[in-house]
Amino acid sequence: MARARIASAGVAMLAAAACATTPPTDARVDAPAAPEPAAAVEVAAPELTPRLANVDSREGLSVIRVNDAIRYVEGINISSNTYAVETSDGFVIVDTSRGAAASVHKRLLNADGVEDVRYIIVTHAHGDHNGGVPLWRADGGQVVAHELYNEFLDYSQMLGGFFGRRTAAQFQFVDGGLSAGGAPMAVNDPAFRPDITFDDEMTLSVGGLEFELLHTPGETPDHLTLWVPELKAAFVGDNLYESFPNIYTLRGTRPRWPLEYVAAIDRVLALEPEIVLPSHGAPIVGRDAIVEQLTAYRDAIQHVHDEVVAGMNAGMSVREVMADVDLPEQFSLNEGYGKVSWSARGLYESYAGWFGGDPAEMYTDGRQGVSDELVELSGGGAAIAAKARAMMASGDAEGALQLTSIGLEGAPGDADLLNARIDALEALLSATANRNEAGWLQHGLRVAREALAE
Ligand SMILES: [Zn+2]
Repeated sequence: MARARIASAGVAMLAAAACATTPPTDARVDAPAAPEPAAAVEVAAPELTPRLANVDSREGLSVIRVNDAIRYVEGINISSNTYAVETSDGFVIVDTSRGAAASVHKRLLNADGVEDVRYIIVTHAHGDHNGGVPLWRADGGQVVAHELYNEFLDYSQMLGGFFGRRTAAQFQFVDGGLSAGGAPMAVNDPAFRPDITFDDEMTLSVGGLEFELLHTPGETPDHLTLWVPELKAAFVGDNLYESFPNIYTLRGTRPRWPLEYVAAIDRVLALEPEIVLPSHGAPIVGRDAIVEQLTAYRDAIQHVHDEVVAGMNAGMSVREVMADVDLPEQFSLNEGYGKVSWSARGLYESYAGWFGGDPAEMYTDGRQGVSDELVELSGGGAAIAAKARAMMASGDAEGALQLTSIGLEGAPGDADLLNARIDALEALLSATANRNEAGWLQHGLRVAREALAE
């Protein structure tokens, strides 16, 4: 039984212990978890601990100096850092945060003397990085991105309804993914489109500094790394988190290929940077810390990839692989944002698609087509709810949740099942230290409570 069992009496302790495994290492100071929504949106309803919460707390933000040339404002809660690199001929901005946070970042940086912006470099086309592009461009800078940036925006726009709902659920946004002004973020608006794109590499010269742009797909196909050799600084966007990466994100994504992450990190390591600046969290300073952290991150991704491939070739099912793939402690990575089991399934299905080999899967109705018979055979909703509660009492909240899912398919709106489901969701919520898991558990709670109120 690979399923984690949660003793109800130990839930609070488990949550505290899980949080305690996630503080930053010595070389990274006060770095938050790393989000990547598909669209710029507003936030609401904080119910979690501060580290996990989607609190829209922009108070207390300030400009942080990394060295004489680089400063930034930290992105908190689903927003990227905004970096500014000073040259003798103006500034280069790297990533712009999202929505209302972007205007706060810009105001702080402007007040700190960051004006006369030459270029705005966007590491990739996620809304938490490009939300401030129109603001910065209004001051005259040119927007630079990889040539796949437009195609990725088109994809996000094409599925805007889907991503709006799913992103709002995962990150507990209100209004299904509306931007700060209450209007849907128009990623097809020319204001978000780059002025300059490149293929594999491009160098921009500004005020005596070279800005080398390298195509490093990973979190997205259009992802770039910015290398400033005079500063020995590599801006790595979302190809490096504090947590295990989100190789599959629950809000939905095209495949994210682990071997691309590995190649991206190798490309960064080969530059021999002295400073690595991720777009979420604090910069990593110093060769030893950089080599240690990037190598561990790369090797963890390679390990998960190789375990999935081995399992597939050995004839394991996707669920067997999810349960089997581990994250050895030597990598010192938490699962506060990405999760190994989700990444393993995402990779399995990216390589092979959805069919698992059971002929029953070929037919449209699936299990839901017989769920009413299953409920009847079980003695009805109340009987299933009672069994779910018994499972919860023995510490199996995940099993209890599964039972209520099956029961509610066959008996929609059953109050006993909904109440048992709410208790299972609450138990799982209080036990998780994963931000995305918490978001979906909260979403499930909201749906169940609404159904109960009907
Ligand atoms: Zn991001």
